[in-house]
Amino acid sequence: MENLAKETNSPLGPAMMRVAAELYPICRSITGNGLRESLRILQNCVPLEIREVPTGTRAFDWEVPAEWNIRAAWIKDGSGRTVVDFRDHSLHVVNYSRPIHARLSLNELRSHLFSLPERPDWIPYRTTYYRDTWGFCLPHRLLTSLADGEYEVCVDTSLEPGNLSYGELVVPGRTTDEVLFSCHSCHPSLANDNLSGMVVAAHLAASLRQRQNHLTYRFLWLPGTIGAITWLARNESVVPRIRAGLVLSCIGDSGPFTYKKSRRGDAEIDQIVSHLLSPESGDRLIDFTPIGYDERQYCSPGFNLPVGCFMRTPNGCFPEYHTSADNLDLIKPDSLSGSLAMLQRIVDVLEQNRFCQNLNPKCEPQLGRRGLYRALGGLSNTGLEQALLWVLNFSDGRHSLLDIAERSGIPFATIAQAATLLEQHELLVSETPSPTSGR
Ligand code: ZN
Repeated sequence: MENLAKETNSPLGPAMMRVAAELYPICRSITGNGLRESLRILQNCVPLEIREVPTGTRAFDWEVPAEWNIRAAWIKDGSGRTVVDFRDHSLHVVNYSRPIHARLSLNELRSHLFSLPERPDWIPYRTTYYRDTWGFCLPHRLLTSLADGEYEVCVDTSLEPGNLSYGELVVPGRTTDEVLFSCHSCHPSLANDNLSGMVVAAHLAASLRQRQNHLTYRFLWLPGTIGAITWLARNESVVPRIRAGLVLSCIGDSGPFTYKKSRRGDAEIDQIVSHLLSPESGDRLIDFTPIGYDERQYCSPGFNLPVGCFMRTPNGCFPEYHTSADNLDLIKPDSLSGSLAMLQRIVDVLEQNRFCQNLNPKCEPQLGRRGLYRALGGLSNTGLEQALLWVLNFSDGRHSLLDIAERSGIPFATIAQAATLLEQHELLVSETPSPTSGR
């Protein structure tokens, strides 16, 4: 399975880059046509459903805000020359700016201009959700070159009753136990922090649709915070079925993997990802904090879901974060396909991990008679034969197959193969852990 995943993945890196490049220029936000158009583009990869939730809908302590749309935004100097134009870069306008058309002195304008003095060529990313104001973001070099005088500013946006859009796709499995993959999709032209998660999630979903799965997989492409809160408020009945989940973000840069554990810290998903990370390659495991992406909502105490956050270089830990330098040059085809391959490995373990009961627990069953063990020659050193003994000994209902793999040092795939063989010979029965039981 792993080899298959690796082989079929390599051409997917460039394919994912192409989707990211198509999404990159679009001005996404927490609501509006940019978000909707982005979800439609992802529909070319997977048949996700676009859900629309009306403005004013309550979601726990929140309310779906007015829908924001933008047609134009620019600043002209006294001579009528355009000095900043939203058409050049979606980051030029503070996201969710209210409309304005006015003439202002440079001094009056200044409080609405944002730049990064320490990175004078980069445009910062700013938002003004839930605040009634407007602004522009520009390279510091351009800001400092503006001459005194009068400027004409135009922000041609609308904030009107409409909808919050999100994308949802369920890939049904043999059981209704679910694995949740969630990614924020509300950032404008930002590649690693947004597009990488969106395109890898779409391609993971596409690969899962092509095979038979034990578990059910649910994918969400949501506006950050309000989208996850809205989804949770509308889907409380789904929540008990969630056995594991991952928030995906910043998985396109060339850094090693970082996994932020769920709030529980000892959930199955935490164990699986920790098992697969390779610290010798620089992969890192960090504890839950209530700061970051939508794991904040999934792991809020009223839900406390087994959902971690899978990243390469975390948010805020790379200099390009939330600037125009988080562009298509920062993400790499190999990094995207490597992230996809890792997620497929995580899925493979989730699919096969289970608790089993040895049906012949008093002494070892006679494996040779069943063709499971070489008839002569005593204890063999082949991994599978040893795995049979490990699985039989520790299948007391309290050790999962992954526990046994970790304790024995035998690869999980071999342990899982041994368990399947023993089940076929009616020496073992498996019980799927219930999603919420903390074993
Ligand atoms: Zn962000």
